[in-house]
Amino acid sequence: MTDVARRGELAANLAEVEERVGRACRAAGRDRAGLTLIAVTKTFPAADVALLYDLGVRDVGENRHQEAAAKADACANLAGLRWHLVGQLQTNKASAVARYADVVHSVDRERLVHALDRAAGQAARRIDCLVQVDLRRPPVEDGRGGADPAGLARLAGAVADAEHLHLAGIMAVAPLGADPREAFDRLAQLAVSLREDHPDATVVSAGMSGDLEHAIASGATHLRVGTALLGSRPPLG
Ligand SMILES: *Cc1c(COP(=O)(O)O)cnc(C)c1O
Repeated sequence: MTDVARRGELAANLAEVEERVGRACRAAGRDRAGLTLIAVTKTFPAADVALLYDLGVRDVGENRHQEAAAKADACANLAGLRWHLVGQLQTNKASAVARYADVVHSVDRERLVHALDRAAGQAARRIDCLVQVDLRRPPVEDGRGGADPAGLARLAGAVADAEHLHLAGIMAVAPLGADPREAFDRLAQLAVSLREDHPDATVVSAGMSGDLEHAIASGATHLRVGTALLGSRPPLG
């Protein structure tokens, strides 16, 4: 596909997503300005990031460190572009991630907090962190779905105490098969309890291509949208 054709496709997808976001905001009595749309570009080339940037997108998300690092490198000329790491992160990747990531959405254990803090210090950067919570009932300790909500206060405290990290808020993925509205309402309650201790931890990262309306209705501030913007991905190998 030519660049021009791909640009047209991305522009149409972006317009359609904005239409959905606008409608959901009106239904919820919310202001679009209170929402950040993150384009999740995983599996798509850096050229797509550049086209989205040209269309006004300033927040992009990736779920794998290696792919994110390569794309961030290729897009280093795009001023003001923010990189969000939304996938599970191994502790030994923290120092590499700290060089380019602006926001890490998947902080789910204290070991990772300490590794990211050290790495951010070495890179002379400050990284926004979201505590990812597992909304499955009961939580599953498989290292994939985030932290047990029972440990939220403790984990958030560790991030807040870290010199080179900023506790920005909370993140979750609606569990497969669960009612997304119910899951996101629960996340909203957890966000309220988080703000009791940390008033400026205002980010609520929730909502993907299939459930962004529910996330907006429940008060999400950040949407992580892949498929609806970029098209369907090849199945995971
Ligand atoms: C891939 C991914 C998304 C985007 O999902 P879509 O359904 O393609 O919009 C959002 N959040 C996380 C954590 C992801 O890994």
